[in-house]
Amino acid sequence: MAEYQLEDGAYEALLEAHDSSNRLMEREIYSMRLISEAQGYETDLLPAEMQSIQLTEEDITSGREDKIRKAQELVFDEGYQEAKSLIENHITQFLDSIIATTETNHVESAEALEQTLALQRIWISILFVMNIITFGIITMLVVRPLKIYIKCVKDNLMFETVGSYEFKYLALTYNNIYELNAANQAMLKKKAEYDTLTGVMNRGAFIQFARLQEQLPSALLLIDIDRFKEINDCYGHDTGDTALKKVARLLTTSFRASDTSARIGGDEFVVLMADICEDQKDVIQKKVEQMNEFLRHPSDGLPPMSLSVGVAFSNNGYNEELYKKADKALYFVKEHGRDGCCFFDEKMMDVRDSAI
Ligand code: GH3
Ligand code: MG
Repeated sequence: MAEYQLEDGAYEALLEAHDSSNRLMEREIYSMRLISEAQGYETDLLPAEMQSIQLTEEDITSGREDKIRKAQELVFDEGYQEAKSLIENHITQFLDSIIATTETNHVESAEALEQTLALQRIWISILFVMNIITFGIITMLVVRPLKIYIKCVKDNLMFETVGSYEFKYLALTYNNIYELNAANQAMLKKKAEYDTLTGVMNRGAFIQFARLQEQLPSALLLIDIDRFKEINDCYGHDTGDTALKKVARLLTTSFRASDTSARIGGDEFVVLMADICEDQKDVIQKKVEQMNEFLRHPSDGLPPMSLSVGVAFSNNGYNEELYKKADKALYFVKEHGRDGCCFFDEKMMDVRDSAI
């Protein structure tokens, strides 16, 4: 706020006006005293101001008429009028100064108010912009990552490493756990579905898989290693295991990728051939002969082996009936010298019965 500062000389003008006014008042009181003397009023009855006035010797001794004349001159002569106008001028000068100062103060106050308002407008704008920036930052670094993470959780995906450092750290930690979990699940799935020794599908997984293969012309091969006990007995269990792995590998490589091999028991395997009909028996026959020829002449230090294979066909994929038929055929092979392949025939139906 600006100080209330009068113009130079304004205060002096007011003092001047005050002094002049006092002098005029003294003149007037002197004049009134002269009149009261001329009229012969009791001095004690006069107001204190008039009593305190000391008349000059000349005025005391002057006559009544002279006293009245001088009294009139004192309040009507040029000197009195000049003094009055001087007072007026000084008062006017003082008032002008006050008005000018007040106007200046008004202008300065208005300018100061304007500046304060402008400053406040700037602050409000800065705060507004900062709010928008803060909102943007929070959206980018917190809300967006959270939305992405929620979507990833719903879609069972790894987190994108976005947002602030903390969110990126969270994403990396989650992803590590996710990968570990996925690896564990894959391992458990593999353990649950695949034979740990040979790596081919196990019995339970095979049955689940086979039941889904409906409406397809298929062939089921039931395969058993001949006299496998003897291998265990003569060469040891480890060699027996290696022999089982060899047979599993041989099955996998001997058939098409669309055919499925599995180990369903100790030395028993199956192959479910997809999209094959009875008129292709010779294809199967040839494959079995080739596999037995391969096993009969080992070059890997393992004992010679042979396979017995029972085969049954189906026009509508896998079912229990198909398995029974393949088992009958296998039994037939075992009963007729092993080391070979036999296709199911209705005549085998009255022979031994077993189920998978
Ligand atoms: P056959 O010609 O009639 O089939 O005679 P085989 O001796 O092969 O008789 P069978 O098929 O009944 O014998 C299977 C043997 O397989 C019995 C068991 O000791 C052995 N075996 C089962 N599982 C394993 C395994 O994981 N490793 C090894 N080394 N041997 C196994
Ligand atoms: Mg056997």
